[in-house]
Amino acid sequence: MSSSVALRLPSIDGLLRHPACAPLAERYGRDSLLTGLRQLLDELRPGVLNGQLSVVEISPEVLAGRVGERLAQQQRSNVRRVFNLTGTVLHTNLGRALLPDEAIDAVQMAARYPLNLEFDLASGKRGDRDDLIEGLIRELTGAEAVTVVNNNAAAVLLTLNSLGARKEGIISRGELIEIGGAFRIPDIMARAGVRLHEVGTTNRTHARDYEAAISPRSGLIMRVHASNYSIEGFTTRVPTAELAELAHRHGLPLLEDLGSGSLLDLTRWGLPAEPTVRQALLDGADIVTFSGDKLLGGPQAGLIVGRKELIAKIKKNPLKRALRVDKLTLAALEAVLGLYRDPDRLAERLPSLRLLTRPQADIFAQASRVQPLMAELLGESWQVSAVEALGMIGSGSQPVARLPSAALCMRPQVSKRLRGRFLLNLEAALRALPIPVLGRIDDDALWLDLRQLDDEPAWLAQLPQLQVDQ
Ligand SMILES: *Cc1c(COP(=O)(O)O)cnc(C)c1O
Repeated sequence: MSSSVALRLPSIDGLLRHPACAPLAERYGRDSLLTGLRQLLDELRPGVLNGQLSVVEISPEVLAGRVGERLAQQQRSNVRRVFNLTGTVLHTNLGRALLPDEAIDAVQMAARYPLNLEFDLASGKRGDRDDLIEGLIRELTGAEAVTVVNNNAAAVLLTLNSLGARKEGIISRGELIEIGGAFRIPDIMARAGVRLHEVGTTNRTHARDYEAAISPRSGLIMRVHASNYSIEGFTTRVPTAELAELAHRHGLPLLEDLGSGSLLDLTRWGLPAEPTVRQALLDGADIVTFSGDKLLGGPQAGLIVGRKELIAKIKKNPLKRALRVDKLTLAALEAVLGLYRDPDRLAERLPSLRLLTRPQADIFAQASRVQPLMAELLGESWQVSAVEALGMIGSGSQPVARLPSAALCMRPQVSKRLRGRFLLNLEAALRALPIPVLGRIDDDALWLDLRQLDDEPAWLAQLPQLQVDQ
């Protein structure tokens, strides 16, 4: 490259006035354009001084093009829709439950207009946000009273702190679990100011173990749903009714953290049995906590239900204010709970239940339908087949239960040495699509479980853009 002509970068003013930049100013605003141009020129300056750049590379048109790309990139939202084809329906990292239209409409209304969040329209006086959903939750669970917070972790923290601070919380060793995302029962207890008193053993805890632990220092007995692990074999667990009777005999409240906590018996839809909130209360639990966005199929929230005087105590805790739920969540929650009034139509109307109950034959038919297209796109080096697969509910519900499903299974037809790289490249290419497609790698193949492929047209439409490095 000739260095006889000293190149100079165009001036910022000159660029701003250039016709190539005008549409960018219009689209992204003059300030963003200015910042973008300054950054780009600063980056290019050393190259110009060293004579490494050509006239074309620093022409206003090329510079405008580069800044335009950056501004477009910046403008793209970080929150993006994806296709969850992992086989795990309530996937914590992918946002758990999808909301029904009724809840989406309610969120829109609550976002757009002022609302009676803490205002009692009947009396014209200040209201309580819990009142908006209390009646519905009482009806659906049989609870005396209700309060709602940001998520179930908050529900457990708040309940423990309100009812057991500076006292001992008695809990079975087998229930000292970690849920993931750093939620560990012993740590939450410590943060709540409750002294952990563990009883029994990992696999077996008897009523007499609880009984022996009770002393004047005791504040509560806690029971936690084991969620994402299961203890099988030589095990004993005190039934909730018996534990409640024991707790009450000693004047202690029994808390039950159900985790997912279903409102209805799921076996009615052929799903594995999960304890219901109503049953836990009938068995005598004084407070039951559960998530809004696990099996309930609603927004992220933590529901605390149970005895009136205990709920009143929980609501008076200043932490309640810090953990409270927002108006969009409440709007969505009310709409989702409303659907539970008509269980016969719930599986049609609640997306999580609809997806969980989708018949395997249906999913298999879909996999067979899209298989030829994928096979053609990937070409010779891949074997693409429609196969039966096993999915999971997710979010700690039924860790060992599997949902009979179907998947596209993509196996690289290359030497063992190259297989890993092929799989990672395909996985990356699927993730790079406009709506990223997330599957799972297992047994030397990439699996796309199609249980949740609701929007097949959008999925198919973008597939031709798949670019796999090999
Ligand atoms: C999932 C779970 C939690 C935490 O609930 P989030 O709504 O995710 O905060 C607490 N306890 C149990 C037993 C759980 O399964």
